[in-house]
Amino acid sequence: MAPPMSADAFLDALRSEGVTVVEVGDWREHNRNHKGPWGPVHGVMIHHTATRGTAYTVRICRDGRPGLPGPLCHGVIAKDGTVHLVGHGRANHAGAGDDDVLRAVIAEKALPPDDEANTDGNRHFYGFECENLGDGEDPWPDAQLEAVEKVAAAVCRHHGWTERSVIGHREWQPGKVDPRGFTMAWLRGRVRDRLK
Ligand SMILES: [Zn+2]
Repeated sequence: MAPPMSADAFLDALRSEGVTVVEVGDWREHNRNHKGPWGPVHGVMIHHTATRGTAYTVRICRDGRPGLPGPLCHGVIAKDGTVHLVGHGRANHAGAGDDDVLRAVIAEKALPPDDEANTDGNRHFYGFECENLGDGEDPWPDAQLEAVEKVAAAVCRHHGWTERSVIGHREWQPGKVDPRGFTMAWLRGRVRDRLK
């Protein structure tokens, strides 16, 4: 259980981890806090966008799409590894997921199957969207994967969490497949090593 970082603390945490950050518009005040609570925070969620092109991807994640207003995450991780900050606060990224998974994340234990959609995830997770088509063909450049590792580690380091607090959207919400292209076990291993 932790209160969310301030925008300044979030920026500092990312930069201290060596992340190259691009601040997009009024990201510090761009959120969905008027629609529901933000925090306490319990983890970091990783996604892929199923889009191509960094400018287009960042715009969608900032503004949203028909039926799903932005921001759709906090940071967009581009193919070149730069992280575009599009929002701070409650964001439309996690949707409804499994309370058993949330309990496991809080306890930092192995995750159970996500077979229920009974819990508001937008309240409890930082969210990062990765620019990738998610078709199993679109490559994940090393610079991008390194940035995924760094943002996850940055948030965990700030809150004193282990790699167990990093989950994929597909581990949270039934029916989701993202991120596709690497396993979350592999990513958690990299985060674990980075946090040593
Ligand atoms: Zn997702």
